[in-house]
Amino acid sequence: METVVSGIRPTGNLHLGNYFGALKNFLKMQQEHHCFFFVADYHSLTTHPTPFDLHKNIKQVLVEYLACGLDPEKATIYIQSDVPETTELYLLLNMNAYMGELERCTSFKEKIKTQQNNVNAGLLTYPVLMAADVLLHRATKVPVGKDQEQHLEMMRTFANRFNRIYNVEYFPEPHAFNFGEALVKIPGLDGSTKMSKSENENSAIFLADEPAAIRKKVMRALTDEGPKTPNEKKPQAIENIFNLMSALSSKETYDHFNELYNTCQIRYGDMKKQLAEDAIKFTEPFRARISELMSDKEYLHKVVRMGAEKARESAGKTVREVREIIGFKSF
Ligand code: ADP
Repeated sequence: METVVSGIRPTGNLHLGNYFGALKNFLKMQQEHHCFFFVADYHSLTTHPTPFDLHKNIKQVLVEYLACGLDPEKATIYIQSDVPETTELYLLLNMNAYMGELERCTSFKEKIKTQQNNVNAGLLTYPVLMAADVLLHRATKVPVGKDQEQHLEMMRTFANRFNRIYNVEYFPEPHAFNFGEALVKIPGLDGSTKMSKSENENSAIFLADEPAAIRKKVMRALTDEGPKTPNEKKPQAIENIFNLMSALSSKETYDHFNELYNTCQIRYGDMKKQLAEDAIKFTEPFRARISELMSDKEYLHKVVRMGAEKARESAGKTVREVREIIGFKSF
């Protein structure tokens, strides 16, 4: 049995990238493994949300986790800030994380470009907080999308460095996990290679989107005039639409449009109409559950309380042992 940890920042609604990159694998793993899934609310503070937005987004992500099928009886589902042990491990790991390696991190370099007026220390030490999230439960598997590969590498560096400094074999190496298959990267509708809520809202299909919104966004997705010669290599924006179709539609549907592309007969309007309907069908059950759960205050309260209790038990044990290893001993 493996220990599995994953989390998503509450900076907006969950989109199909979050689902296929992180949630889908987690749903499969919760049956057999020791799983922790959290709402990464400390992480979201790097963008300075208002208290109102922060709370609203935490609730939304929690509800969407449950709507997707995360089961609080099988997995530990918790809000990161309910487990303050996270911050202690974060502080301790920060002492062994070096400026140079943090500054070289791709996500930091991207962030300082996109939020030039708010290059805070939290952005720099983001990978350390991520390492704390995972090492807190001494997890070995982290179901994430391809965008997180470098962060996983850094987690291993921090885990191994801690073990080396204190001459222990305490933290196991965490690895990104997708059932032996390549890590997933769901593209955006705007030609970008990664669907993301932070970059451009119209590039993402959200699990909570109404059918009309999905139709509108998909029909607006970037395309071109179409191929001129048979079997032409697909430009990025077109490749993206095909990749989305491969995730959402049946194989027959995908093959049908691929054949039309390869024989230069494709009409992107038809393809997008089909893709929109398949996206609506795919998200339909989530949408229904989301609105049901949103008003079930009592159940949400119970889930969060139960999750915090279980997560703190595991986190408390790790932090106690880490303190002991470091040399914080009682008198
Ligand atoms: P966002 O990039 O939308 O702000 P997060 O950074 O909070 O989302 O990502 C949360 C999880 O969802 C991570 O495990 C990440 O790998 C996964 N994820 C996000 N976007 C994608 C995507 N386009 N394709 C695959 N996985 C993704």
